[in-house]
Formats: sequence, C-alpha cells, structure tokens
Amino acid sequence: GSVFSHVVQAPEDPILGVTVAYNKDPSPVKLNLGVGAYRTEEGKPLVLNVVRRAEQQLVNDSSRVKEYLPIVGLSDFNKLSAKLILGADSPAIRENRVTTVQCLSGTGSLRVGAEFLARHYHQHTIYIPQPTWGNHPKVFTLAGLTVRSYRYYDPATRGLNFQGLLEDLGSAPSGGIVLLHACAHNPTGVDPTPQQWERIRQLMRSKALLPFFDSAYQGFASGSLDSDAQSVRMFVADGGECLVAQSYAKNMGLYGERVGALSIVCRAADVASRVESQLKLVIRPMYSNPPIHGASIVATILKDGNMYREWTIELKAMADRIITMRQKLFDALRARGTPGDWSHIIKQIGMFTFTGLNPEQVAFMRKEYHVYMTSDGRISMAGLSSRTVPHLADAIHAAVT
Ligand code: PLP
Repeated sequence: GSVFSHVVQAPEDPILGVTVAYNKDPSPVKLNLGVGAYRTEEGKPLVLNVVRRAEQQLVNDSSRVKEYLPIVGLSDFNKLSAKLILGADSPAIRENRVTTVQCLSGTGSLRVGAEFLARHYHQHTIYIPQPTWGNHPKVFTLAGLTVRSYRYYDPATRGLNFQGLLEDLGSAPSGGIVLLHACAHNPTGVDPTPQQWERIRQLMRSKALLPFFDSAYQGFASGSLDSDAQSVRMFVADGGECLVAQSYAKNMGLYGERVGALSIVCRAADVASRVESQLKLVIRPMYSNPPIHGASIVATILKDGNMYREWTIELKAMADRIITMRQKLFDALRARGTPGDWSHIIKQIGMFTFTGLNPEQVAFMRKEYHVYMTSDGRISMAGLSSRTVPHLADAIHAAVT
C-alpha cells in the first residue's frame, strides 16, 4: 500500500473549481462567469496589444539574459509600481519612505506582507471585510495572523453597511490590521464613496489601525488608474503608514505571469530601509527571488510614455466593455419583467456583480442553463458578451420566478 493511502480527497477551490466543472460540461451554450478573467466580445482571453509590443521589444533585445533577479525583484519595476499606485508626485516616494518588493502577483504580495507583519508587527489580528475574496482568510491564517471580520455588505440594500463597518472598526483593538480593497471590492462590487473613505481614514488613524490595501483592480473599476488609487493615496497623504499589495493580473491582463508588488509606506527613510532588509528574509526561504518576464513587460510599458498611454486606452476599453455589459444585463432583465430590483447590477463597480441569487438558484442555473458562477451568486461581468447576455437573463429570470 502507498504511504499516502490515508490522504483524503480535498474539495476543489470554490472559485477555480467552477472552471473545472465548466470544462466538463459538453453543452454548446455553457457560460463561465466564475473566474475573474477578462474576455473579449467573442468570449476569448485578451492579450493587450501593448503587452505584445513590449514582449516583442524584450525578445529583440539580445543583451537580455536570464540571470536571477535580486530577492526584491526588478528595481525599475518596483519604483514604477510604487509610482503607479501612490502617484507620480507622492511625497512618500520623494522622501524614500516607501519600500517596494516584486512579488508573485497579488496573492504573493499579500502573503509576503502578512508574513512580515506576523514577524515584526506588535498586533497579529487582521480584520477583513464580510464578505471578501475567498483566499484572504487562508492567506492570512497561513502567514500567522489571526483573522476577524468587519461588517461590509448589506444584503438588504445590496450596498455598503457603513454603520456596521464603523462600529466594527471602532470596537477593534488599537493597532489592529485592517484589510481594505483599494477599489472594485470583490465579490460585492460595492465601494465606499470618497466621503465614506475619509471617515474610515479618520477612524482608523484615530485608533492607530494599520491599513493593508489589496489593489487587484486599479484602472478596472472606473477606467482611470488615478481615480481607482484615490483610497490608497488618501491614507498616504496623511503621512501615516500602510501596506499595499498590487496585482497586474487584471489591469495588464498578465494573469499567468504572476506579477505584482508589495509596498510598505513608512514614516521615515531609515525605517523603510530596515523593513526592506527584513522583507528579504521573508522572501528568500519562500521562493528565493521572483520571475523576470512579467516584471520586465510591466517595466517596459510603465517607463515608455507612448506605451503607457496605449495601455491606459486599452485598459479603459476593458473597463468600458464591462460597464456596457452591466447595462445590457440590466436592460435584458427589465425587458423580461424579471421580478425584483436589479439596479445593483448597474450600480456595482468593477469586474463582478453580486447578484443576490442564493445557492439554490445558482445550482438551478448551472443544471438547467449551463451557467457557471460561484455559489455566493457572484458573476464575472468580464465573462459576458452581447451574444450571451440574453441567455444569462433567461437563466436568471427562470431562477427567480
Ligand atoms: N485580491 C483580490 C481581491 C482578488 O480578486 C484577486 C484575484 O482574483 C487577488 C487579490 C489576487 O490575484 P492574483 O494573485 O492573480 O494577482
């Protein structure tokens, strides 16, 4: 017998498992709205033109070698990533108070940041929104933090439970870590308004709560890189400290290249430099150093004015297509007279709509209509097209009537 014969079958990942089930379905009308990956109107994955151009330029440069990157990754990439999220004129960058390390996309950045906090921060409790991306509690727990949640979403209004959020953060112990989605909250698509962000900032600073931003959708929410970074910049502008995990998976379509960055904004340059020295000790035994290709693509685009502009145009086109899909789905449900108020479809922001469909309705739509989504009723708007909206609207209509 095998020494592993006692190993039990693990459940599929709740998000990636949706794609596994979808792939097994032979139906020609099947629709995968599970995973958060952008698709074109033709339902195909998209490689941005500017990414192809940058890759071409890299391939043609015969001076490029495949040496190991430093533990902290590609230096240009790190500087440009900090600039992208904090703003070109950020005093924190100018004063060398920011340390940025290249990590394995958003997930890896969160993990490295969390392990650093578990080793070097006096508080080990992290507050995450209820609900949040399903991987958050697992990443933080394995990094050695204790996970608690704060109220975020109100199912009754399908909007923000702002009072509950303020109460829960207000009663968190001083110094606690708070995970904040920088924009396009996943899975709800519900973000605080700028005025609400300001209240959150005041409350958190007054209680010395440490902000840990997860920025997985910069540019994807509004189509503007600067607007989508406002929450983070508000917290950096007050001179206080925070962590930011950035992902280029969605906004540059670099999903499988695993390219992201962790920035830690400190009060002083000497602190930032010591923090970086400790980040290296977290990274070295984990994966030694990050991969070179994706970070080189990002750095090539961010440092070239023309490519940067081309990127912003392609990014806006992706964001706009998603916004169009929201309107089309909303119109299609209205046209069918589907019972209920579906205005949250056009009010919510970013890649996902939190439909409010319950697990039974989700199961019904999978069985009868071959429409795949996570059991919490979240659908990826980026997986929809003009052609597939009617089928989804039929499925939702049948599920709720
Ligand atoms: N954070 C949130 C909120 C996400 O939705 C995602 C991806 O779905 C990530 C982080 C991390 O993604 P990646 O590791 O692919 O950058």
